[in-house]
Amino acid sequence: MLQLDDVTVRFGATTAVDDVSLSLPEGHVLAVLGPSGCGKSTLLRAVAGLERLDAGAVRWDGRDLRGVPTHERGFALMFQDGQLFAHASVADNIGYALRLRRVGAAERRRRVDELLELVGLPGYGARRPATLSGGEQQRVALARSLAADPGLLLLDEPLSALDRSLRERLAGDLREILVTTGTTAVLVTHDHDEAFTIADRMAVMLASRVVQEGTTAEVWRAPATREVAEFIGFETFLTGAAAGTVAGPDQQVDAAAPPGPPQQTAASARTDGRVLALRRAALRVDPSGRLEGVVRRAVAVSDAVHLTVDVDGVGEVAALGDDPGVHLEGRRVRLALEARGTAYLPG
Ligand code: ADP
Repeated sequence: MLQLDDVTVRFGATTAVDDVSLSLPEGHVLAVLGPSGCGKSTLLRAVAGLERLDAGAVRWDGRDLRGVPTHERGFALMFQDGQLFAHASVADNIGYALRLRRVGAAERRRRVDELLELVGLPGYGARRPATLSGGEQQRVALARSLAADPGLLLLDEPLSALDRSLRERLAGDLREILVTTGTTAVLVTHDHDEAFTIADRMAVMLASRVVQEGTTAEVWRAPATREVAEFIGFETFLTGAAAGTVAGPDQQVDAAAPPGPPQQTAASARTDGRVLALRRAALRVDPSGRLEGVVRRAVAVSDAVHLTVDVDGVGEVAALGDDPGVHLEGRRVRLALEARGTAYLPG
């Protein structure tokens, strides 16, 4: 189990990591999610032993790792660019750690083949890294990281150099591989979808501090602050009567509300001074929807249309249309609310 107690790392006058405490039980995958410059790579490097702590401690199975050099921590690191050895074959790249450990050639071959299978590249052993696509190179880098059977795998934006569709597919594969192998891992990313796909726990980091930590589902359903909500993809924030109008008189939004006293049913009273946060997908064009408004803006994306709708009695909200072929700007539409894309934030 990994434990960080009040970890602080400074570079001169800059505090890159400020008093961060986290724990990660064995077999779990933690995503440290935050914008560029928030300190997440520094935090990962501190765990790896590549940055000196100015305060606090990193512990592994209860043991303080202060003074333990990187190569003796039993952790593996994987970066955005897999940093493969260009002149070695794929098999030699993957088998590198095993050779260092003096594992015999036959056993090494067996293990390399097993890892190639695991990452979906059976038969690629003799290839050179330069003959592989970016996605294939990252799969090899992952196999190489896993070869040493690390106690902890540290992943620094492992997919961000890849194009979007590949990133999505590889994120799913990575999740499956980590679960299959029972690997304990910390993933650093700025991409909330990636964090959600790959990890089961999430620590949101903003301006050097961890501002929320929990299971991915908990953070998704109940962001602690508006800043966290914005960072994980909530776009519309409503209060007072507008929130009441969108929430509606029935109980449909309550699934997303934090536990508390039973909800009142009068629409205007239901939001209780809290902020109703909505993802774009929470409001969809639907002829039988309860809300109505005028489309101010429509932008087609690959498989949907992003709308800005001026809803009667509410104001502008982000919503989702599904037919890029229909010209919606200026038209009146009805919107239905989907509770899964909603959350209440403290007012
Ligand atoms: P992230 O990974 O979230 O993009 P980093 O951990 O790389 O953020 O950086 C956090 C802050 O620390 C930034 O302000 C960055 O400029 C600073 N920083 C990171 N590494 C160094 C370094 N080696 N020397 C000086 N400042 C650094």
